Amino acid sequence: MLLGVIADDMTGATDVALMLNRAGMRTVQVIGVPAANAKLPEADAVVVALKSRTNPVSEAVAQSLAACEALLAGGARQILFKYCSTFDSTAHGNIGPVADALMRRLGAESAIICPAFPANGRSIYQGYLFVGAVPLHESSMKDHPLTPMRDSNLMRLMSAQTEHPVGHVGYATILAGPDAVKAQMAKLQADGVRYVVTDALTNDDLMILGAAVAGQPLLTGGSGIAMGLPQNFRQAGLLAERAIAARLEAPQGRRGIISGSCSTATRGQIKAALEAGFLALKVDPLALASGEQTAQRLADWALAQQADRPFLLYSSDDPAEVTAIQARLGREKAGEIVEHAFAQTARLLAGAGLTRLLVAGGETSGAVVQGLGIQTLEIGPEIDPGVPWTRVVDGPDMAVALKSGNFGAPDFFLKAWNLLS
Ligand code: ADP
Repeated sequence: MLLGVIADDMTGATDVALMLNRAGMRTVQVIGVPAANAKLPEADAVVVALKSRTNPVSEAVAQSLAACEALLAGGARQILFKYCSTFDSTAHGNIGPVADALMRRLGAESAIICPAFPANGRSIYQGYLFVGAVPLHESSMKDHPLTPMRDSNLMRLMSAQTEHPVGHVGYATILAGPDAVKAQMAKLQADGVRYVVTDALTNDDLMILGAAVAGQPLLTGGSGIAMGLPQNFRQAGLLAERAIAARLEAPQGRRGIISGSCSTATRGQIKAALEAGFLALKVDPLALASGEQTAQRLADWALAQQADRPFLLYSSDDPAEVTAIQARLGREKAGEIVEHAFAQTARLLAGAGLTRLLVAGGETSGAVVQGLGIQTLEIGPEIDPGVPWTRVVDGPDMAVALKSGNFGAPDFFLKAWNLLS
């Protein structure tokens, strides 16, 4: 392994894994803190997906350090702590405390802070983070339920979360190239600065920054910063040129979709699949609660369908129906019943020859992945922005795509299969 990444949430982990894969690094994603003696798979980059963004600080630090240990044991030469490109955090953390702990563990003298992701409109100028055309604190992030962002100055935001001095490398220095950036960082470090906010407006800037941080033990930032890292390993002769596979080699077998997502995008995708004549069964939380529908019955139905066509099992419903069901079962109970049923169904189906599986819904994906006993996925081609096909490394031999609710175009369920061979 060359690069180890610690991501503070699941979709962020997939994002950075896709970025690295696209830039030519063979990348696997590990879900959750790897077990203490787990051997990480061979890959150029390993991304550990944590769920630590809004945990209590001590938990986030402990999980991140455990992930760091596993990555170091797997041979990582550089660690990237990946957080959201909108610097999602509070004055109490978790970005500062996690970065401090990693810095201590890695013996790093300093680390950059660069959440810039120009492709998604996140840019940094004079140390201020912009979302599209507005500063972070004027964007919708100002009202985020868990991490409302009320300031846009990254030096101030970080200073509130760490005792270490925070400095800044401005845009003129970035434009002057990697050597100028390195010289400025060395100067700041000599002055006692430990964190360096770096301006970045374009992908070219991220490539310059990537070159400037070659060999630094710790980096922190959004997915964008990963763009400029593979070139360093390539130049050092550690990473071979690699064609990016347009399709994923998947084991032959049955194909299916499990959808517990009630998001607008997913409902549109289900509508398109039904209109295209998919073999579909609607799963009713009330029928699951009464025992009329069971995981075994859902699996039996799926297996009774024509084997060469994908089946669709979906509980997805519109908001009024979901509210009515939640009123009957309780909000959490309704979610749990569906997640549990889908996790069990997936396990039964994997044991009966299902090898190609699409799952819609963040929580639903978590439950299904757990039900299947999957911890590690190798990243493959991107179906739609942010959603790759993956191949299971450590569980049942399957191709799996995990789609967050609002991701994907309306024809997602129809076209995804074309990327498998
Ligand atoms: P998304 O990514 O779209 O938010 P999730 O899977 O994260 O999707 O969340 C959807 C939640 O709704 C899950 O807990 C799921 O079990 C639950 N759910 C699915 N279908 C229904 C339904 N018909 N009624 C009530 N809750 C449902």
